[in-house]
Amino acid sequence: MTDLTKLTISAALDGMAAGDFSARELTAAHITAMEASNVLNAFITKTPEIAVEAATASDTRRAKGEAGLMDGIPIAMKDLFCTEGVLTTAASHILDGFTPKYESTVSGNLWNEGAVMLGKANLDEFAMGSSNETSFYGNVINPWRRAGDDHPLVPGGSSGGSASSVASFSAMAATGTDTGGSIRQPASFVGIVGMKPTYGRCSRWGVVAFASSLDQAGPMTRSVRDSAIMLEAMAGFDPKDSTSVDMSVPDFQSALSGDIRGLKIGIPKEYQLDGMNPEIQALWNQGIDWMKAAGAEIVNISLPNTKYALPAYYIIAPAEASSNLARYDGVRFGLRVEGKDLNDMYASTRAEGFGDEVKRRLLIGTYALSAGYYDAYYLKAQKVRTRIADDFKHAFQHVDAILTPTTPSAAFGSGEKSDDPLAMYLNDVFTVPASLAGLPGISVPAGLSGEGLPLGLQVLAKPFDEETLFKVAGVLETAANFTATPDDWWRG
Ligand code: GLN
Repeated sequence: MTDLTKLTISAALDGMAAGDFSARELTAAHITAMEASNVLNAFITKTPEIAVEAATASDTRRAKGEAGLMDGIPIAMKDLFCTEGVLTTAASHILDGFTPKYESTVSGNLWNEGAVMLGKANLDEFAMGSSNETSFYGNVINPWRRAGDDHPLVPGGSSGGSASSVASFSAMAATGTDTGGSIRQPASFVGIVGMKPTYGRCSRWGVVAFASSLDQAGPMTRSVRDSAIMLEAMAGFDPKDSTSVDMSVPDFQSALSGDIRGLKIGIPKEYQLDGMNPEIQALWNQGIDWMKAAGAEIVNISLPNTKYALPAYYIIAPAEASSNLARYDGVRFGLRVEGKDLNDMYASTRAEGFGDEVKRRLLIGTYALSAGYYDAYYLKAQKVRTRIADDFKHAFQHVDAILTPTTPSAAFGSGEKSDDPLAMYLNDVFTVPASLAGLPGISVPAGLSGEGLPLGLQVLAKPFDEETLFKVAGVLETAANFTATPDDWWRG
């Protein structure tokens, strides 16, 4: 039998429909792969028993002709999604022992469509980070290494465990969440497809909040078609989330026509950074050529406020985080560190429960929201955010999609940026603007760096036009024909 872990979701669905193998066999192969990949530290909690039970139920459904969109597909669930009866940590010490009594809407939607949970994937603490080095449960390692160099590399973040599990063939796909780039950047670093839907497309209910006006769940997969299948399973209106949008969910797969003739693809000049890595520039040029060869029209556009996106994001996201994370007080969830009185208990719990990066964000956010600074920082950042959204609105009057690099570099080494928060924040330079504007974005693996590491290109589209996004991404994927995989040095 072919190696079941190497299949895409769509091929696995076909294989199960044809009776070539069962969901139980598919799941068993992935459990073995997951167990053999421990050195990558991609999972905080593994749930093989739940997986086997779900796979068995899936086989029964399929036999009755009742299979759902993702029936029998083994996936990793980012440990930011609340899962009923299964430890949910947000990779933070402060959520020690937190076992939700409810299921997040997105994970529930996936189980309703038959997906099988292999476990809860590691992440940066509260999804704050770009390297998966801030998890209380330890760093996640990228399955890729530089040619001829054993130094461990980061998988990107914050959805680093999701990225690493999919790239190492331990999970067929994974959920991620993206606040400023946490799906797209790690996808680019490990050579997979990472998609952030339009804000409001997927419910945030039951997802541990980081920055509520930015957080969005999305699929991390090994192909664009898989991304379309998985988004269809995840998305949908949810009355429990007031920011979820009441729109029907299209059959995203049917958008994959492979035909982008006549589509207008925008190339924003402001994404051409001073001192840009020549490899990234070359990849972007290559992407432009692929679009032209496929019959699209290339249009130069301007997004003049791009340079203010990162500074605005690093006010807004911490401000919202400082408010959201106020709920962790030692009373309602997880960890409690006793103190001499109530205030002391709060302070001791938060001092011990949060890691350094989270504390940095809470300090910045609390400062930006405090009386006297609110107007100067938070309000100003909100105004900048509106300008950035307007830039995109204007640009989308002339183009159907926008093509940019996903990240300013390939994956970097573990420890290389952990003492330099500003260098770390720069990872998000190409992903944050679309987050601020609430737009859908996708990273498609498009080439290898000189050191043999994957690099992604990003496509952006209009709000709720995921169909155009997938169509363009599909053409990019075909042109790039990215088939490289990491050597499996990690298998124990
Ligand atoms: N790297 C960014 C940050 O640290 C984005 C994180 C995310 O999208 N969750 O805030």
